[in-house]
Amino acid sequence: MKKVTLINGDGIGPEISNSVLKIIEASGAQIDWDIQTAGADVIETEGVPLPKRVEDSIIKNKVALKAPVTTPIGKGFRSVNVQLRKDLDLYANLRPCYNLPNVKTRYENVDIVVVRENTEDLYAGIERQIDENTAESIKRITKDASHRIAEFAFDYAVKNNRKEVCVVTKANICKLSDGLFLNCAREIAEKYSQIKFREILVDNCCMQLVQNPCQFDVLLLPNLYGDIVSDLCAGLIGGLGIAQGANIGKDYAVFEPVHGSAPDIAGQDKANPTALLLSAIEMLNYIGENAYANNIKQALFKTLNSGIKTSDLGGKATCSEFTNSIIANL
Ligand code: ATP
Repeated sequence: MKKVTLINGDGIGPEISNSVLKIIEASGAQIDWDIQTAGADVIETEGVPLPKRVEDSIIKNKVALKAPVTTPIGKGFRSVNVQLRKDLDLYANLRPCYNLPNVKTRYENVDIVVVRENTEDLYAGIERQIDENTAESIKRITKDASHRIAEFAFDYAVKNNRKEVCVVTKANICKLSDGLFLNCAREIAEKYSQIKFREILVDNCCMQLVQNPCQFDVLLLPNLYGDIVSDLCAGLIGGLGIAQGANIGKDYAVFEPVHGSAPDIAGQDKANPTALLLSAIEMLNYIGENAYANNIKQALFKTLNSGIKTSDLGGKATCSEFTNSIIANL
């Protein structure tokens, strides 16, 4: 039986985790879940939102499924998400965005994979107050990190039969930092002659994404542009309730939805578990349980096709009703 860490999160985290666990169990996939709590509630008992036991569990099991965890504002704690990515060197953030059946959006046939660098750029958190009038944030980009994320994007493209990798920067303005990221992508592109390579500036990319998203295949971005553009892409396919993600490093992988803990709808049985479920499906593929992953995906598609949807997608189903329908379709 494969052992996988589950961080069940807070806000809507426990509800959607519960839904996904039930679906995976009903599919017959044999997963031994190592359930770890983290986040705001844990601070009261253990003093920090991400106790060492959580990372130890991921290091032991190598794979985790993570529901959203709130970062308390103004209490001096680093974001649990940012800390996990940094401590475990989960350098690649992977966010596939494709249309789901019977989820009406402005566009059909969107199928974009966002590959976001996860460890540096403005997220390195190097900031200083110069005087009361002025603050600075350092945008740090390194050759090593840029090469390895470009390599990841091209490798992903080859393994997943993708045609093109498009690197997104603002290298005309940030000539040194984004210029370095772009140059590294160009160098790696030369090694992958079977994959088309394209370059675009981030402002133009955003306009093109809302005008004609189907032209894009794999997008490769530094951390901050990746964060913003991946939310834009989530909007193209129907919103945060269905946007999946994964953080992948050399040794470990943490699968998690793009959305946060949505405290406004927590505890009301309203949340859409699809983003976490799709993340879990990718987790099952990652550990080699492809048949179960595929069965669950088909059951999810059947539920959506039958018109059973949660309220974020314009439906009336509660999280529990949606979950039960997927289980019935397995
Ligand atoms: P964070 O900063 O933690 O990413 P956020 O402030 O960006 O969080 P989210 O928690 O991601 O916000 O959610 C934004 C809004 O989207 C929520 O208020 C909620 O209404 C909606 N939402 C997010 N996830 C879901 C979901 N799984 N199901 C239904 N609605 C959701």
